[in-house]
Parts: sequence; C-alpha cells; structure tokens
Amino acid sequence: MKIITSIFDLNKEIKDYRNIGFVPTMGGIHEGHISLIKASQKKKSKTIVSIFVNPTQFKRKNEFKNYPRNIRNDIISLQNLKVDYLFTPKVKDIYKFKTKRFILRKEDKILCAKFRKGHFEGVLNVMNRFMSIIKSKDLFMGEKDYQQLHLIRRFLSKKFNVRINTCPTIRTADKIALSTRNKLLNKKSLKKASRIAKLLIKIKKRTKLHSSKFKLDLSDYKKELEKKFNIKIDYLEFRDEKSLKLNNLKNKFRLFVAYNINKVRLIDNF
Ligand code: AMP
Repeated sequence: MKIITSIFDLNKEIKDYRNIGFVPTMGGIHEGHISLIKASQKKKSKTIVSIFVNPTQFKRKNEFKNYPRNIRNDIISLQNLKVDYLFTPKVKDIYKFKTKRFILRKEDKILCAKFRKGHFEGVLNVMNRFMSIIKSKDLFMGEKDYQQLHLIRRFLSKKFNVRINTCPTIRTADKIALSTRNKLLNKKSLKKASRIAKLLIKIKKRTKLHSSKFKLDLSDYKKELEKKFNIKIDYLEFRDEKSLKLNNLKNKFRLFVAYNINKVRLIDNF
C-alpha cells in the first residue's frame, strides 16, 4: 500500500488509472469501513481510501479535537486488506484552493441538518474537494450515514458523473451500528445503545407488518425512550427511503434516530 499525503503526488500516481474506487473515511477503521473497501476491491482495479478528519463539519472545536484517531492501527488494517492507496492530506492543503460553496434548501433541513447546523455544508464542501482531486467514477459509502448519502447523491453525483455504491450498515452481534465514535462510549453506554437498537429494530419490524395500526407520530415513544435510558433524542422519525420526506408507511420507509448518550451523539437508521 502506498501512503500519499500530497495532492500533487496523488495526481501523479493515479493519472493513468481509469478504474478507481474511492472510499472516504475519517479513520478509526472498523468493519463498516472494511465492507466498503471490499466492495470497491471487488469492482475496481485500484482502491483509494482517504483518512481525513474534516474540521468544517464539526460545530465545536472540542468535538473535532476529541474525534478518535489512531492512524497507526488504521495503516495496519489497510495494509492487511491490500488497499492500493491511503490518502491522508493535511487540512491546509485540502482547503487551500477556492471552490463552489453548497447551500442546503429549506426541505433539506431535516434530521441531522436541523440539529447540526452547518454540518452537511461542511461534508459537501470537503467531498467536493476530494472528488475534484480524485475524479473517481465510483464512490463507496455506507447506509449508516443515510442523509449524508442522500445529499451527496443530490449535490455531487451529477457534477462529477460519479456512481455512488452503497453498503448496508454493519452491526456488532448485539446490534450496535459500528462507528468510530463508539470508542468514546463506556461499557454501560454501549449496553444501552444495544438495547435501544434492538428496540428500534422491533418497532420497524412491527410497523412494517401492521402499518395501518401504527401511528406515524413517535413523539410519545420518543419521550418514553428518553426517560427509560436517560438519553436526549434529537429525532425519531419514519421517513421515505428515497425522498427522505415524512412517510405514509406505504412506500419503502426507514426509521431514523439521533440521540446523545453521555455527551456522545449517535445516529442510526433501520
Ligand atoms: P466515517 O469514517 O464515519 O466518516 O465513515 C466513512 C464511511 O463509512 C461513510 O460512507 C460511512 O457511511 C461508512 N460507515 C460508517 N460506519 C458504517 C457501518 N457501521 N456500516 C457501513 N458503513 C459505515
């Protein structure tokens, strides 16, 4: 595996390759990331994984500072997977050139966009920069970050003529969605996260089976969960899988959740 830190070196290295798969990450490589890497390797002749903790998508400096990082372990994992290129650019290099800014529309300001102001503008900004450098025809992303996927598809896939390949959420045996942020949780919080995930999986299943009997409004349920687990839930909503509009439970839908547990924010969808 070649580790590349400069945009110049990356361009030199990949200029002759047409068949590249790109897997953007913020590091803390886990089985979720690995599923994306394997999907890319199955399809593409070369795979680039990036590790870049993007400052512009964090509202508070502390959140950016405390994001779990372990580049040494990551390099070992990626080497074992026989990834072709690891791209780890510096913040100042990624942000040194001018490019288009993205502004969300009113109808986009739902779910995480409502609760993390500026977050997705930061995500779109950095993805726009990476994609204009790498210009891969295939991007590999996880359904774990479903709204991110939705917005990148809408704002960037046309501009770069890129195919977005999605991979389902990888979970632990006790149903917690793998996430680098899980490293910030203690044992007790992890246990709670597992119980919450199992409950939400049950709700989704029951709703799917008996959609006519279920209420779309989950606000009572949200309050109950907050009390039971001593968590703060930002949202708990059924939304349309394609449009992300609030759902009538007739078309394909997903249950979206974001909550804070011991000051760590977790998101998931089922
Ligand atoms: P991150 O490093 O958290 O920014 O994630 C990088 C990519 O990995 C994104 O496309 C995520 O959606 C994806 N990802 C993160 N966690 C998981 C998971 N548990 N299962 C599948 N994909 C994931």
